[in-house]
Amino acid sequence: IKKVGVLTSGGDAPGMNSAVRAVTRTCLTHDIEVFGIFDGFAGLHAGNIKQLQRNSVSDIINRGGTFLGSARFPEFKEESVRKEAIKQLEKFGIDALIVIGGDGSYMGALKLSEMGFPCIGIPGTIDNDIAGTDFTIGFMTCLNTIVDAVDRLRDTSSSHNRISIVEMMGRHCGDLTLWASVAGGCEYVIVPEIDFDEDALIKQIMDGEEKGKKHAIVAITEHVTDVTALAKRIEAKTKRETRATVLGHIQRGGAPMAFDRILASRMGAYAVELLLEGKSARCIGIQCAKMVDHDIIECLTDMKRPFRKDLYELSNILY
Ligand code: ADP
Repeated sequence: IKKVGVLTSGGDAPGMNSAVRAVTRTCLTHDIEVFGIFDGFAGLHAGNIKQLQRNSVSDIINRGGTFLGSARFPEFKEESVRKEAIKQLEKFGIDALIVIGGDGSYMGALKLSEMGFPCIGIPGTIDNDIAGTDFTIGFMTCLNTIVDAVDRLRDTSSSHNRISIVEMMGRHCGDLTLWASVAGGCEYVIVPEIDFDEDALIKQIMDGEEKGKKHAIVAITEHVTDVTALAKRIEAKTKRETRATVLGHIQRGGAPMAFDRILASRMGAYAVELLLEGKSARCIGIQCAKMVDHDIIECLTDMKRPFRKDLYELSNILY
């Protein structure tokens, strides 16, 4: 391996920059040239590629988002488009690629590997929805942002004896909601992994009021239901002011916290080590505090993220 390309793809996540920095500096330490590919697979296809030096990644370890940019590029599912992308890589003499992103990006990396181009995947997504790793880069920072928002909502909800429904990101994974619920002391937690029973929720809220609870914070993952409509129905049944707050894109931004910077640094360095060992089509994870790697195909097909029932139950005990 003489020249390595690195790109960030799919939804941005705090810590992606720290991972690109780690890839770059580990490569340079091993006398491998590094090329930053801008705007994900779209930029790869367009040949938006620039060589990176040590100082190209200065002052980014603490910056949210991704300085390389990211893009959604569904055209990458076409083999002909991927062939053109490989031509771009060959033009620069790049002989391996590190892809930082979610499972969609992993699929792109896998397809390139299957076409003979070595790729390694690094899990970069706030959703924590990737198999084979306890944590993805960006999850902890996003979780902290959410908990901060929940704390603020708690102050105002408690002052007004109000019911607050807080919609959190996660796509089809309840991890952000679950962890935020435990950390934020939310009264009710609704995640995609557990069937949502609206009547049971309303009964629980009413029982809580009888016990003297001043507020009710309902943590809910996006896409489960329309939270504004849910708030109206709860208000009609409980006769208590109910407000829905959709946290939205603020959850994505902000400086990565130390946990994500360290995770990203370790994963970036580990990815380069795997390439040096001649490995391809592997994806990186952290399991029980150790760096691990798995086959991307297995990660995308056979491996399942375990649902943290223990945290769900804990949240239901501690509310
Ligand atoms: P994430 O990586 O966060 O899951 P996406 O699902 O949007 O985000 O995937 C990011 C990009 O990965 C897509 O825009 C596309 O370029 C590429 N990609 C996704 N699925 C495939 C696929 N089946 N084959 C090839 N490339 C894919």
